[in-house]
Amino acid sequence: MQKVAAVKVDSFAYNYDDVEKGVQEALSLLGGIDKFINPGDRVLLKPNMLEGSDKDICVTTHPEVVRAVIRAVKRRGALVFVGDSPGYGGTVKAAEKCGILAVCEEEGAQILPFDTGVEVSYPEGHFLKKMTIADVVHKVDKIISLAKMKTHTFMGITGAVKNQFGFVVGPDKAQFHLRMKDMCDFAGMLIDLTEMVKPVLFIVDGIMAMEGNGPRNGQPKETGVILAGANPFAVDAVMAAVMGFEAGLLPVGKRAKEWGYISVLPEVELLGSAKDIRLKFKEPKTFESMDTYFPPWLVGFFQSQFTAKPKASAACIACGRCKAHCPPNAITIAGKRASIDYAKCIRCYCCQELCPANAIELKDGLLLKLFKLSRIKNSRRF
Ligand code: SF4
Ligand code: SF4
Repeated sequence: MQKVAAVKVDSFAYNYDDVEKGVQEALSLLGGIDKFINPGDRVLLKPNMLEGSDKDICVTTHPEVVRAVIRAVKRRGALVFVGDSPGYGGTVKAAEKCGILAVCEEEGAQILPFDTGVEVSYPEGHFLKKMTIADVVHKVDKIISLAKMKTHTFMGITGAVKNQFGFVVGPDKAQFHLRMKDMCDFAGMLIDLTEMVKPVLFIVDGIMAMEGNGPRNGQPKETGVILAGANPFAVDAVMAAVMGFEAGLLPVGKRAKEWGYISVLPEVELLGSAKDIRLKFKEPKTFESMDTYFPPWLVGFFQSQFTAKPKASAACIACGRCKAHCPPNAITIAGKRASIDYAKCIRCYCCQELCPANAIELKDGLLLKLFKLSRIKNSRRF
């Protein structure tokens, strides 16, 4: 059975001593950092930096969690690097905005920009046999993933497996959304990517998590948990349970189950002071969309009728960021506001994720509203 450590850290202001104690406890439950890292290893820490946001709005992995892991790895005699490919802007800028750059400078860890891609062949892939990912994977010996516990408008939740999407270099991300419009296809790509990159350890910062319309525009949620494990699917299964979701009904968990990976709690050896914490996170607005009610062959056909539509509100500042990152070029800026061509929109919600003004609202169509009211569901969610 795969072990996952769930440790209680209810220091919601991220007092360093409390965070370090929690991280150390989680590592001890897994056998200690020595089990994963050797002296002299070049180790990359991969936090979730999204596009770099104030650490207090809970979009990014908190810098004090990054600091605690940097120190643990350094104590082992390894060389530490930190990096991510944010959805918008460069690695250093994003690290600066979310406070991770300052921590790296104080702790002597070098930021590795994820600027350049390299094609990696992966014949074992279920979905993708090769992929262009950040070339930093060839510059280090080991990778530790430092994800943030959040809801996600496209994937339901984002944790250990979704954090791997940061290995896709910024501008390439949109193409993946375009190629894999179906949630479960996208989840399959994430699983292949996770297996290809193969971090040795997955840690999730769930001290202050995010609920609602994550990964960027939800609300902070006091959760008080640090999760850690060597198996990303087991870690995500536990994370989903803590948040009040069933991993096997979400895209990554569903595809993981089909492909023989762990997706349910009974397959996990759960250890630590937070192992029984179960909360009820607010779902993203997109959670009950048409695929809750219909089989997959109908999903594509009726997508425009039964999924939540993104729409720019009066808060739009016409910055053009959503237009620049919309995979099918469905957005124009008209009359000082973003305007969306719904015939082209693939409902990837990148615009909602990247909007700096939280101006993208997600509106249910009339038919979806009616179905939600009727509560006629079949047993599947995705
Ligand atoms: S919707 Fe957001 S990202 Fe798009 S133009 Fe308006 S403010 Fe910018
Ligand atoms: S308009 Fe928004 S949700 Fe639609 S395809 Fe573009 S980025 Fe994705």
